[in-house]
Amino acid sequence: MKQQKFTVAQFNKLFPDDSACLDALKALIYPDGVECRTCREIRPHHRLTNRKAYSCDYCGTHVYPLAGTIFEKSTTSLKSWFYALYLIASTRCGISAKQLERELGVTYKTAWRIFNQVRKLMADDTGMLGGEIEIDESYIGGKERGVIGRPGRNSKKVPVLGIVERGGKVAALVTKDVARATVMPIIDSKVLPRSMIYTDDYKVYNPLRGKGYGHERIAHSEKVYVVGNIHTNTIEGFWSLLKNGIRGVYHSVSSKHLQSYINEYAFRYNHRSDRAPMYALIETQTRKVRHGRYGQYAPLGDAR
Ligand SMILES: [Zn+2]
Repeated sequence: MKQQKFTVAQFNKLFPDDSACLDALKALIYPDGVECRTCREIRPHHRLTNRKAYSCDYCGTHVYPLAGTIFEKSTTSLKSWFYALYLIASTRCGISAKQLERELGVTYKTAWRIFNQVRKLMADDTGMLGGEIEIDESYIGGKERGVIGRPGRNSKKVPVLGIVERGGKVAALVTKDVARATVMPIIDSKVLPRSMIYTDDYKVYNPLRGKGYGHERIAHSEKVYVVGNIHTNTIEGFWSLLKNGIRGVYHSVSSKHLQSYINEYAFRYNHRSDRAPMYALIETQTRKVRHGRYGQYAPLGDAR
């Protein structure tokens, strides 16, 4: 079932200005109303003019919904932040800092900083994956950009292990190599026991059956790609999305930043059915604030 997309027009209607964005954040952080930390009760609050704060109608205690979020200390307007979240989260093939600079009307430096902050929010924890799983390793970077294949020992290419649930989520991790000792612990930490795993015929996957997983492999080395249900087309699809994106938008990626770029693509893949993926990013922020609701007011020294 295809959901209707959240359009720019709808975004602008919902978030016409900073004030609307702040109200939205407040509503997400305090879905049941703001509990005043002085009254220790849910109280009506009113917006303070010229401050990004609300005040308790009874006692005047202030509450700052931006506290602890990436928006807090920024000189960029909240509406621009929201628009950046909208663009980065929903642009299918990725957007560059240069495009963000144009869209937001900010400097390149600011656009770049926003991008980095948002990418950090995209380190989506998929939790354990299960059901029908495809696992494959791939290589990114180096001179022959985006070329698939197992490179030689001195290659500058960075190995990435991809684990995807058919019809579900993907986890893609930069690894130091694709040796059995590296790959198996990752699989154990990401894939539920007894899941059905599909791989190619690379020998590193040999122990899977002995570990209690179901395991079927497709003989890529013999140029066989699909036998009935046995294939790795889902993870290959993710690799091509990632590689096209990195090629088309980023031109080159340093291995240091590769994981965060991959997180960005995995996030979009994992939220491909969301009507408005930006909410998943805002949720990450508001959850942080909700959990630490009183932490910011604790006397110094209390925190640690
Ligand atoms: Zn109060």
